Amino acid sequence: MDNHELRKAGLKVTLPRVRILELLSSAEDDERHMSAEEVYKALMDAGEDVGLATVYRVLAQFEQAGIVVRHNFEAGSAVFEIADDEHHDHMVCLETGDVIEFVDEKIEAQQQKIAEEHGYELVEHSLVLYVRPKPKE
Ligand SMILES: [Zn+2]
Repeated sequence: MDNHELRKAGLKVTLPRVRILELLSSAEDDERHMSAEEVYKALMDAGEDVGLATVYRVLAQFEQAGIVVRHNFEAGSAVFEIADDEHHDHMVCLETGDVIEFVDEKIEAQQQKIAEEHGYELVEHSLVLYVRPKPKE
């Protein structure tokens, strides 16, 4: 994801857009899902002068343009991640708010099978597991 993506999406290349795109694109695996507040905080920590209202606006524009996907998980505020073609499901920790990605071939196949058994073709699905840390032994 780079500035080229912005132009391709019909968005002018502005500093806030570039910074937010960079931030979301370069995030480590376990930080791929960020709320608007987290994006805002990360920009502040990096010394970028981008207001929270701007962050909200840019994220909404990115979502509209298909650059990011927004998830409204039950716990906490909406989180955003860079849109990629690889399908994955999510696990959300109710204690920490951590978002974990996973893919399980058996679950994928099973969902396909269930849809077919009901006379349907599976088009899309989203699966979220709400979890909490296992109690220490
Ligand atoms: Zn994800």
